[in-house]
Amino acid sequence: MENLQQLLQANQSWQNTIHSKDPKYFTKLAAGQQPKILWFGCADSRTSPEIITATELGNFFVHRNVGNIIYQNDNSMHAVLDYGVRFLNIKQIVICGHTQCGAVGAVLQGDKLDGAIKTWLGDIYTVHATYQARLAKFSQHEQYDKLVRLNVLEQLKHLLNIKLVQDFLNSNDLVVTGAVFNLATGLVENLVECSKEHINSSLIDSAINELLK
Ligand SMILES: [Zn+2]
Repeated sequence: MENLQQLLQANQSWQNTIHSKDPKYFTKLAAGQQPKILWFGCADSRTSPEIITATELGNFFVHRNVGNIIYQNDNSMHAVLDYGVRFLNIKQIVICGHTQCGAVGAVLQGDKLDGAIKTWLGDIYTVHATYQARLAKFSQHEQYDKLVRLNVLEQLKHLLNIKLVQDFLNSNDLVVTGAVFNLATGLVENLVECSKEHINSSLIDSAINELLK
């Protein structure tokens, strides 16, 4: 898919196919959304949540950025979280990283970055610095895979530090999950699942220690 004309033709074809199967599909789509999952993912072009879970439109409320990072000062992230949890009443949040993540790879390999992308990846530099010594015993390939997972688990900690998330974990059966999409197998791996009993527990640290054994 290389140009706008091709995109528009593909859209027309998709619309025709859906409409011929279910003439009311787009009327129902326009009536409103009730997504079940709030998805924090990477901007990577290979990680669309709807495609990798074969899910219809309307099931995911999505925030994606380079490296699936949760920054406490990211107003866009907070707006998605706030709207998703408070107004759409979503009870399942997923942070999903992915193998072969360019953001993680650039940090691990010490690529010479500058500008906005270097600033944005600051938290992944911090995650790498935190675990660099414990990662050293693994091969480069293993370090890459493990740093992807460590990044997801650290971002999960950031999410669990947000008061809104803590409040909804406590009062509203919210569940927060860390996962990784493995590009080489096509499978999503569940790393850890946190509900209200895990707010102050060492569940995530245990998952980190397991990764670094
Ligand atoms: Zn990525």
